[in-house]
Amino acid sequence: MLTKRDLPRCEQFIGGKFLPSVSGKYFPLISPETEEVTAEVANSTAEDVETAVQAALHAFKHSKWRLSPELRIVTLRKLAAKLRENMPAIVEAEARVTGRPIREMRAQLGRLPEWYDYFASVAETLEDTLPPFGRGYLNYTRREPLGVVGLLTPWNHPLLILTKKLAPALAAGNAVVIKPSELAPVTINMLAELIHDSGMPEGIVNVVHGLGSVAGKALAQNKALSKIDLTGGTPTGREVAAAAGRNLIKVAAELGGKATSIVFDDVDLTAAVNGTVFAGYIASGQTCVQGARVLVSDKMYDRFCAAFVEKVSKLRVGPPLDNRTDIGPLVAKRQLDRVVKLIETGIREGATLAYGKAPVPDTGWYVSPTVFTDVTNDMTVAQEEIFGPVVCILRYQSEKEAIELANGTRFGLGMAIWTNDIRRAHHVAEQLEADIIWINDHHRIGPASPWGGFKESGVGRENGIDCYKDYSRLKNVIAKITADPFDWFDGAATDKRYS
Ligand code: NAD
Repeated sequence: MLTKRDLPRCEQFIGGKFLPSVSGKYFPLISPETEEVTAEVANSTAEDVETAVQAALHAFKHSKWRLSPELRIVTLRKLAAKLRENMPAIVEAEARVTGRPIREMRAQLGRLPEWYDYFASVAETLEDTLPPFGRGYLNYTRREPLGVVGLLTPWNHPLLILTKKLAPALAAGNAVVIKPSELAPVTINMLAELIHDSGMPEGIVNVVHGLGSVAGKALAQNKALSKIDLTGGTPTGREVAAAAGRNLIKVAAELGGKATSIVFDDVDLTAAVNGTVFAGYIASGQTCVQGARVLVSDKMYDRFCAAFVEKVSKLRVGPPLDNRTDIGPLVAKRQLDRVVKLIETGIREGATLAYGKAPVPDTGWYVSPTVFTDVTNDMTVAQEEIFGPVVCILRYQSEKEAIELANGTRFGLGMAIWTNDIRRAHHVAEQLEADIIWINDHHRIGPASPWGGFKESGVGRENGIDCYKDYSRLKNVIAKITADPFDWFDGAATDKRYS
């Protein structure tokens, strides 16, 4: 049973044991709230990554995990139960490390056990197939695990995103090496402890820490992997996909976004404002499907902007562990600097700063929730992923223009439509270039519901049966079940055949 405690030293988890890096070096983990060092993190090297991959390979080949769906199903359900039991300590640690308000972390992490239960059920119920083949043959398919899979994860939803990859990877019978973000390693180690306690064979799950440019790169390039699955920025996605291409292995990449909400003029103003403010400022805007661009009909633009600013001005900026906090500090100083710079760019390019002066604590990486109005689609703030509490409101004249503006970015991850007109909602949804379209809602996700970007937002799908299938490979067994004689080279055979 995990207890609430000071943040621990984060070692690597290899072959079922917590171990220091071969370098013996650590890097500091800094609190976004107090700017103090709160933990030391093992600075894993390429050598550590190789050790972890070999431990995973050994466990994959020699434990029962690969061969026993029964073991996997029981273990994953046990892990889900252990997660539920230990949730308060995990929630608190995740809020401390990321700076995200504890109320958000409670709501988000409370759902994680569903992923382990869901993928255990997929493993339990997914049937193989008997493709038609013709008389005299039994033709069937089998799904097999891939082998060792590398999982590279970001800091903004550390455990949620890892869980979306880990649950299907394990259910399908793979072994994994995880490289979490250097900014949020703590709850990954807490999960490793629970994995150990759930009775999973040692070496099936391994964790290395360290920098993306060192440990992440070494993992992405490792030749013993059968798949690499990344969630991160689009530039990282290009590098990781290139490494996977060189090694000819599967790749999945969930990348950057700049989600758009389209508000039509038939909506209830309060409902649309509540929904789009939630979309824009949850996670202090540090989420790939942040509703960063709101397109509002010219007929209600001024009314909408006034109500939006009024709502944003009431958001409470404060410490992550305070239940009343709506906006916590950003995760790292480098994020704060990036967000501040982009706000300055927005002002310089002519957007109107309609709100941006909430009082923020002196210490910690806080930035005021910010609203830009009079934004045009060519402005940097309308196009670049800011990843902070900054929302741009754009104006449109017609449904056609709204769709063009919504599709007018290089990203394609999540969009929302706010309207009471059912016909219009589905007609517009059909034309939007994004993987998930919410109608009168935002940020909804479930383990069975496919997730993965269009355009530069990524390749592959998380969640659902397709994701499970992507963590396995298909084998076809064609069995001749008659005793009919066959000798091609006696010259008598004339049947058509493939070869
Ligand atoms: P990041 O790309 O900097 O890092 C992601 C992970 O990759 C980290 O573990 C990092 O250490 C590692 N990494 C970095 N460079 C690497 C390299 N060259 N080779 C191998 N690994 C490397 O991303 P971040 O700042 O941690 O996360 C924010 C980004 O993630 C945003 O762009 C956001 O949109 C995206 N994101 C996408 C989704 C989605 O579902 N599409 C969800 C959450 C976050």
